[in-house]
Amino acid sequence: MIEVKNLTKIYGHNTDAALAMLKKGVPNQEIKDKTKQVVGVRDASFTVENGETFVIMGLSGSGKSTLLRCINRLIKASAGQILIDGVDVLTMAPKELEELRKRKMAMVFQRFALLPHRNILDNVAYGLEVQGVKIEERQAKAREVIEMVGLSGWEDSYPENLSGGMQQRVGIARALATEPDILLMDEPFSALDPLIRQDMQDELIDIQEKLQKTIIFITHDLDEALKIGDHIALMKDGEIVQIGSPEDILLSPASDYVARFVENVNRSLALTAASVMVRPRYVVHPKDGPRTSLNFMEKHGLSTLFVLDRTGKLKGYISAEDAAELAAKGIKDLADIIQDDMPTTNPNTPLADLLDVMAYTKVPIAVIDEDQRLQGTLVRGSVIAGLAGGRGGINNG
Ligand code: ADP
Ligand code: MG
Repeated sequence: MIEVKNLTKIYGHNTDAALAMLKKGVPNQEIKDKTKQVVGVRDASFTVENGETFVIMGLSGSGKSTLLRCINRLIKASAGQILIDGVDVLTMAPKELEELRKRKMAMVFQRFALLPHRNILDNVAYGLEVQGVKIEERQAKAREVIEMVGLSGWEDSYPENLSGGMQQRVGIARALATEPDILLMDEPFSALDPLIRQDMQDELIDIQEKLQKTIIFITHDLDEALKIGDHIALMKDGEIVQIGSPEDILLSPASDYVARFVENVNRSLALTAASVMVRPRYVVHPKDGPRTSLNFMEKHGLSTLFVLDRTGKLKGYISAEDAAELAAKGIKDLADIIQDDMPTTNPNTPLADLLDVMAYTKVPIAVIDEDQRLQGTLVRGSVIAGLAGGRGGINNG
């Protein structure tokens, strides 16, 4: 686990006065005007759980790289704490720090920084070589991670023979070769073409599913952040202005700044069924009978109703037409007219995967949990509201 507490980085040679001003709440620009010192990161606190992908997002100059580099102490922070499994990076002795950088963490940069005169195999094995690992062992490990990033067959090639996307795969393989627990990735895909970039995001998600590293990933691209992040921290002027899950950021932006950031995102990729479903307020039980059901449907203007058993499990749905027919026949139990061909989905399904179904279904999509219990329904109105960015999508019908 990584815990960053009140981290501040001020660039310059005379940071004491600047730090004192910062602690009093003086804005960055005023600090700069008065002291000539530049605030890179301002009082940032966050926690990254083991195995999660934590994304730091923000515009250029917002302090993302500074923050990341403080974590492996490429840059020395001016104040605060960076606890890695409880040990503060800022007070580590040189030997400990070297160990940390060699074994526990690896960094992937935007520019691939490969060694041009080494082939791919030796580029990937480089970190192990530095650790003094024997040649057979390090090459075997390198082959393994090269395969993992989809570059088998390229071991003997040189960086100049590879496309940008492939070079970045090498960069990732190189970082994985030393089996670090933590990966620090500073805009690793920003220099790539959009399609290649999407491939790389998918690849990273796959790798992460297998390896469950703790990843801190920087991007200035919200779609990328939403796609790969378990949590996202948004930075502005050196400060973290919001931390949350992708849905938190989309559905309840903490400020106008965040709201403007999320305006143009393709929400269907980030929203899930759970975030736009409506609570199933109008349901019936088999014993309720057709007359009760019909009254209910008329009163609320519904053409279908979901039927639940006594434990809340979804049995199916009935239509108003069938209920009327049943009532005319004088049959009291709904059992004969319950249909079970309604579309269902689980709460975690991305909205993007449901839009097709939405388009043709006449029955609302039922959102059910593993026990078949009805959690909510997807009706067109709330889905469209969710996609359009209305915050009213959650459970309010
Ligand atoms: P980002 O990675 O979000 O683009 P950076 O962390 O690179 O942002 O920069 C944050 C702020 O710190 C910017 O105002 C930048 O100009 C300043 N900065 C970054 N590096 C230095 C440096 N070595 N010396 C002085 N100021 C710096
Ligand atoms: Mg940067």
